[in-house]
Amino acid sequence: MENDCLFCKIAHKQMDTQFLYEDDAIVVFKDINPQAPVHLLIVPKKHIRSINDLEPSDEALVGKMCTVAKKMAEKEDIAKTGYNLLFNVEKGGGQVIFHLHMHLMGQKD
Ligand code: AMP
Ligand code: ZN
Repeated sequence: MENDCLFCKIAHKQMDTQFLYEDDAIVVFKDINPQAPVHLLIVPKKHIRSINDLEPSDEALVGKMCTVAKKMAEKEDIAKTGYNLLFNVEKGGGQVIFHLHMHLMGQKD
């Protein structure tokens, strides 16, 4: 946990954020500035700065992020209509929060 990282604080419950999902490794919460009717963030509890910082030992964790995203899409009833999963990578890729996260964005029909 990095003390000056917003998503570490959220994931480790130092902020008052409602989780839509939580397990030992991942939390999911609503994006504060939604760009779609459903806009969730899939966030590992482990501090990883960006996709550029992934190590081979993180492969299972990133796989789990995808499985959780799939479950959340079903839960939000957007699985059949479709949705986007997005990693912004580094400043030029639009990354603003330097703690790994996957955006899940979609809408019902
Ligand atoms: P990125 O540009 O990929 O780094 O995305 C960061 C996302 O985090 C943006 O979509 C923000 O709206 C979102 N965000 C920033 N602060 C919070 C917060 N306190 N709670 C929920 N989402 C946040
Ligand atoms: Zn962090």
